[in-house]
Amino acid sequence: MTNVQTAVVVGAGPYGLSAAAHLWGHGLPVTVLGRPMESWERMPAGMLLESPWSASSLSDPDGLNTLDRFVADTGMPRVEPIPLPYFLEYCAWFRHQAVPEVDTGRVCSLRDLTDGGFRLQLADGRALEAGRVVVAVGLERFPHVPELFGELPPDLVTHTVAQRDFAGLAGADVAVIGAGQSALEAAALLHEAGARTEVIARGPISWIDRSLHRLHPALRDLLYAPSDVGPAGISRLVDRPLLVRRLPRRLRLAATVRAVRPAGAHWLRARVEHAVRLTPHTAVVDTRVAKHGLRLQLSDESVRYVDRLVLGTGYRPDVRGLDFLAPDLLRRLRVAGPAPVLDRWFESSVPGLHFVGALAEHHFGPLCRFVAGAGAAARQVAARAVGLPA
Ligand SMILES: Cc1cc2nc3c(=O)[nH]c(=O)nc-3n(C[C@H](O)[C@H](O)[C@H](O)COP(=O)(O)OP(=O)(O)OC[C@H]3O[C@@H](n4cnc5c(N)ncnc54)[C@H](O)[C@@H]3O)c2cc1C
Repeated sequence: MTNVQTAVVVGAGPYGLSAAAHLWGHGLPVTVLGRPMESWERMPAGMLLESPWSASSLSDPDGLNTLDRFVADTGMPRVEPIPLPYFLEYCAWFRHQAVPEVDTGRVCSLRDLTDGGFRLQLADGRALEAGRVVVAVGLERFPHVPELFGELPPDLVTHTVAQRDFAGLAGADVAVIGAGQSALEAAALLHEAGARTEVIARGPISWIDRSLHRLHPALRDLLYAPSDVGPAGISRLVDRPLLVRRLPRRLRLAATVRAVRPAGAHWLRARVEHAVRLTPHTAVVDTRVAKHGLRLQLSDESVRYVDRLVLGTGYRPDVRGLDFLAPDLLRRLRVAGPAPVLDRWFESSVPGLHFVGALAEHHFGPLCRFVAGAGAAARQVAARAVGLPA
């Protein structure tokens, strides 16, 4: 029988590294699989983090290895908004401090064993057994491509998840679809790379309003949690994922919708407004391949000819899209729509199998989409693993 103490964490992003740090910190043998910070390594090099300093630290059991400690230990200056290379440097430092070795093996199959525990098959031919598995594979594999754009040639349409280099689009006409941070930051980077850029959005183009942040610090802290997801007041609720889980489903979904409405970070505004053509409250209703590029028919009856379409249309995490889950395990996994049903320890209906990060959002709310949610998930998983009350 598999040693039930052994844990494997699948994923070495903020959630996987934090879960590993907590399990390791409790003295449990843990193997971390995945390429460290792989999805972040692939983001556009000029990207700045949307999340503020207070919401961008990874988590370890004693809360030691924060961004503040990184600055104190390394002598690096504090920089905000946080540039992507700076964040990657911090995460490498965190890993060095708080996480056992990371094995870059890729899981191609995960199944549970009849006498307890799990077997993981790696793409390089190796196999591992574990008593507990924490799935922390992030958002990247779940890009949402609306049906209208699904059949277009891939050299003319890219989702922001795959659009990392904008230099090749200098001089091109590019339409960006969406009004969230990814869409608006892609528009800024496209413009700065020399593309003629237009943002087309079904709804308004809004900016996260930070005016209440200038209130007296005590009042600000009352309204906004350090994780800073959502508007005043809601931010405090969203910060407590275990409480969110206990809310009636309708209330939970309403809080999620309110907290993560498409909007751009306030510091992005000056790089987009007056630099990029903005077309809010307008949908693309038809697309055709034209002689050079694409012809877009818009809901206001106007037409655009573009060389490239960039989709900032977000992500739709769906556990059924995890290609490495064995069909038999997937059949027995209780799901609520696309989400695995999870208890308060982020444990699924298959004992010993946990899901953290975006796949836990359905139950624990929007914090799970951000680095700031990694601590709560990691604490719960570790508490379950060592049998602590949590
Ligand atoms: C453009 C963009 C900007 C963002 N900006 C912010 C921000 O500023 N602040 C913020 O809080 N959040 C931001 N996010 C959200 C961010 O993705 C999440 O907060 C965070 O990355 C989630 O961490 P994770 O560990 O769940 O996943 P990831 O960081 O995506 O890590 C996934 C890990 O899983 C591994 N993996 C995947 N499949 C396998 C497999 N089969 N076998 C082994 N390993 C595997 C990968 O190698 C990787 O190590 C942003 C997202 C995007 C797309």
